[in-house]
Amino acid sequence: MKVVVIGMQHKKSGSSFFLRLMKGEDLLETLTSFIRKNGITAGTISGIGAVDQLTLGYYDINSKSYQKKDFNEFLEILNLSGNISILDQEPFPHVHIIAGRANYETIGGHLIYAQVGLTAEIHILAADTLIKRQYDKESGLNLLNLV
Ligand code: ZN
Repeated sequence: MKVVVIGMQHKKSGSSFFLRLMKGEDLLETLTSFIRKNGITAGTISGIGAVDQLTLGYYDINSKSYQKKDFNEFLEILNLSGNISILDQEPFPHVHIIAGRANYETIGGHLIYAQVGLTAEIHILAADTLIKRQYDKESGLNLLNLV
């Protein structure tokens, strides 16, 4: 069951936004809503913290679809990185994650879903432009369109 938690904290400095997400929050949903509310149309995302539910994706170029795998365990976010663009008039954070287990092994992939465990410390660097994504038939992906 999805836990809905409102309580994220943030602080702005220039074009930097520092976010603290709370335990139980849907990481991508909270990020997307924050990006929309602040009118961010391009930028980069980085972060650390922890999750206690994670769904990773791996893009299969043959089937042109994401293989998905769920992890229902406490994992440290060792690195979260991504970018912000606009897809179909909506903010689209594209995020990858490397997460670590208690035995120091790591797993990682394209971030599909993460529920924050303890905390997530995210930094968004907003760029003063608008970057769009566009569907690419050959790859089946929505790729950046920088033309
Ligand atoms: Zn990806």
